[in-house]
Amino acid sequence: MPQPEHQPQHLDGTLLMRDEPRYEQARLDAVWNARKPDRYPDAILLAGSDDDVVAGVRWARDNGLKVTVRSGGHSFVGNGVRDGGLLIDLSPLRDTRIDPAARRVWVRPAVTGPEIDRLAAAHGLYFPTGHAPTVAIGGFILGGGYGWNSRTFGPACLSIRAIDVVLPSGQLVHADDENHPDLMWAARGCGPGFFGVVTRLELELYPRHRRILRTTQTYPMELHDDVVSFLCDLLPATPAAVEMSVKAGYTPATGQQAVSMTCTAFCTDETGYDLLAPLETAPFRGQAIRASVNTETSMTELYALADALTPKGLRWSLDGIWCDPPARQVLAAAAPLVSAMPQDSSFLFWMLWGHYPERDNACWSVQAPIYLSPNGGWVDPSEDLAHERWVHGSLADIQHLSRGLQFSDNNLADRPDDGLSPANAARLETIRAVYDPDGLMRGYMTPEESTTALARSATRR
Ligand SMILES: Cc1cc2nc3c(=O)[nH]c(=O)nc-3n(C[C@H](O)[C@H](O)[C@H](O)COP(=O)(O)OP(=O)(O)OC[C@H]3O[C@@H](n4cnc5c(N)ncnc54)[C@H](O)[C@@H]3O)c2cc1C
Repeated sequence: MPQPEHQPQHLDGTLLMRDEPRYEQARLDAVWNARKPDRYPDAILLAGSDDDVVAGVRWARDNGLKVTVRSGGHSFVGNGVRDGGLLIDLSPLRDTRIDPAARRVWVRPAVTGPEIDRLAAAHGLYFPTGHAPTVAIGGFILGGGYGWNSRTFGPACLSIRAIDVVLPSGQLVHADDENHPDLMWAARGCGPGFFGVVTRLELELYPRHRRILRTTQTYPMELHDDVVSFLCDLLPATPAAVEMSVKAGYTPATGQQAVSMTCTAFCTDETGYDLLAPLETAPFRGQAIRASVNTETSMTELYALADALTPKGLRWSLDGIWCDPPARQVLAAAAPLVSAMPQDSSFLFWMLWGHYPERDNACWSVQAPIYLSPNGGWVDPSEDLAHERWVHGSLADIQHLSRGLQFSDNNLADRPDDGLSPANAARLETIRAVYDPDGLMRGYMTPEESTTALARSATRR
């Protein structure tokens, strides 16, 4: 570990070495999840400026340390917290700027969705931010970014117009589609394997919806397969402005396990109350335990609902696979995920995505109509293994159905899967070799680095 006399001088922020009192709190704070990784960086830099990031990268390079990054700390596996090296924590940087006429916003990576939404809403504009209000834009957007109304505007990464990046060389560069287009290409979807420190993002904004409507129908768990199949059948004819998902698990409102389908419609002047009408044609509609139909809502309410689904303070384990229809085949294979679901805050989540056109200027390249994601949420550390088995082991058992993963929910160390198409994964490594020939930036996490109970157990099933 480098000696204090060799530490960078004149920082705007703070560098915490491992033996300093505030180090451990900074390490814990770097991970939103209550299930903290058992990994220890040599040092944590709470960056106070772009210059700090440059100084940190150069210091790490000069001292033979690898570099990792934390923006909002929402990586479920604590991807930024690795053994050894320097963790550059960007959370102190929060400034934003908007140009409504140009429909652009400039944000630091640790800025959250509601902060961006407030800026945009003041000018009748919109950006597809993450569902939960605490999710920062940095890791969210690099990993694709499936936000509110993303079926209309695409995964958020496609709306990055430019980035400022500190390269492994220690140089701060501005990248857009003309300057460093290969960096831009990688930033649009390569997830937690990016080979630079993004310090600022320029994002495109869109005309804002006129109103948001929402229908939720809750049914007994026995109807799980019917509910999922029904929405899968509706999906091809459903306008992109309608976001459809299913949550199966314990439902506080009913005090029992239940399955809820929720559809959110982002209406313009031309589209309105009819968008959610097809939901009322469900053949099992009469068996609903609860329903709220076409209720007008707001982004504030939507963020609050998402927050309640995955509250802070629990131990969370997530994973997910993209799947192709037919739904019945996926459901048959996924049956153990339903029958073995832990009876706590854990739930099974289905997102009906459809398809969004891929672009040559983005490495984002893995999608399928259906996304299946077990969300394990619990309190007692002694239950880690059971939950991690339910989440990762169950998906490993149906790996043959996977068309790849979402980097947002990834746990590459406990269930390796494809986050990019083979061609884009190969191109990414070619670009990485140019920008980071010495491997300064820690890339994707490997199974050897996992500290989960699953990784420590004899088998990963
Ligand atoms: C409660 C909750 C709700 C969520 N909801 C959604 C959702 O609706 N849609 C969705 O798509 N995802 C969602 N996610 C997943 C989320 O997008 C990812 O966990 C994402 O990584 C979070 O970004 P972050 O900056 O907070 O993560 P961090 O943990 O700070 O970063 C994760 C990794 O991303 C990379 N990274 C982050 N910032 C930078 C940077 N500035 N420069 C270079 N690399 C960087 C690094 O490899 C870093 O280790 C949710 C997560 C949680 C915990």
